[in-house]
Amino acid sequence: MDCPFCPPSVAAARFAESELSLALCNLRPILPGHSLVVPKRHVARLDELAEDEVADLFRFARRVTALLKRQFGGTGADWTVQDGAAAGQTVDHLHLHVIPRFAGDLPSPGDWWPRLEASRREPPDSAARPALSDDELRALAGRLRAAWAAGQP
Ligand SMILES: [Zn+2]
Repeated sequence: MDCPFCPPSVAAARFAESELSLALCNLRPILPGHSLVVPKRHVARLDELAEDEVADLFRFARRVTALLKRQFGGTGADWTVQDGAAAGQTVDHLHLHVIPRFAGDLPSPGDWWPRLEASRREPPDSAARPALSDDELRALAGRLRAAWAAGQP
């Protein structure tokens, strides 16, 4: 299986975990701190999660969001799941986008959606969502791993 959100693909990007969930740096962040929370088990859709996985994912995502808000100065956050192709899901492993937000970070608060969509299109639209370099990813994941280990919210 060649899934970008299952091991070994996630090794460089993962920065926190719970019993049943992982937190990953998004390789194409639309704002600083944009991360993903995924179940450890490879499932595509929300209704494939067991009850304990739902609870773990939600509790863990709340802790990860608190960490990201502290690290990136967010006073709010967007959570979004594209559940199914009709909703815009492009990776067949369920993932929750967590985007720390603060007032004035985008021209309009809802502007994150076209940026998320932009990565599917050809340049120049996709330039709205440039990829992190390997060095940037290594530095970011290392910083977040250290912060998570130092004080889990
Ligand atoms: Zn997977």
